[in-house]
Amino acid sequence: MLSRLTRKFQASTSRRQVRALTMAWYCTGSTNNELIENLFKAGLIKNERVKEAMIGVDRAHYAPSRPYSDSPQPIGHGATISAPHMHGHACEYLIEYLEPGSRVLDIGSGSGYLTHVLANLVTGAPGSQEKGQVIGIDHIPELVALAQSNMNKSEHGRELQVSGQVRLITADGRLGWKENAPYDAIHVGAAAEKLHPVLIEQLRAPGRLFIPVESESNGSALEAGGGQYIWVVDKHADGSVHKEKVFQVSYVPLTDAPQP
Ligand code: SAH
Repeated sequence: MLSRLTRKFQASTSRRQVRALTMAWYCTGSTNNELIENLFKAGLIKNERVKEAMIGVDRAHYAPSRPYSDSPQPIGHGATISAPHMHGHACEYLIEYLEPGSRVLDIGSGSGYLTHVLANLVTGAPGSQEKGQVIGIDHIPELVALAQSNMNKSEHGRELQVSGQVRLITADGRLGWKENAPYDAIHVGAAAEKLHPVLIEQLRAPGRLFIPVESESNGSALEAGGGQYIWVVDKHADGSVHKEKVFQVSYVPLTDAPQP
């Protein structure tokens, strides 16, 4: 059963992911609340603030089919909305840097789901005066338009865009987005070939980058054996940088934009 599931979701075989795949059956809900509560009960989401932020975004506005299942879904243009447990992990790795008022860059924003969850974390409750901001970048204009219309399905999503607390932009995310730098947190939702130095430059000190990287051992040289790993890169208050490879994943690649 497990191997069929593993093939189905094209996941890597890291122990953490196999556990997550097994849990996927149990975590699926019939409503958004039920899905998130099930992920919380299963220990796939541990942080209360992350849980509340995810409860505040209805996945049905972002995932075209089976929105309350703990699995990735195609959204067109070769992109996928990641499984909710992965969105949860990403937020939890970044949580110290996602305070009301923080500034965040979400590269490979795709459906816009995570951009909205991140905005909930940094802007406080709906109607609050917090100045937090999330910039979502995707290099496919149709996906940027999709993310904008997905966010417009809720009043809060519309307000976040009108106030400029969420900006969804068409650009090559490998260059970051200098205009609004530095960022307290940078999330990358597609697998990079390397740890792009410009992203580390655009981090605040202190700040944190969460990025899937193709088979990299030390941020520069390619390692034999393949696979993608999440790297967490911390820029400390004194400007020093610490890089750590944390777990194996399976993301779509961070690439050149398709030619029109
Ligand atoms: N977090 C998104 C993930 C979408 S899949 C979600 O859960 O919905 C990854 C996204 O990265 C795709 O939308 C793809 O278009 C985008 N992408 C790939 N290469 C990119 C690049 N160089 N710059 C910006 N976006 C890129």
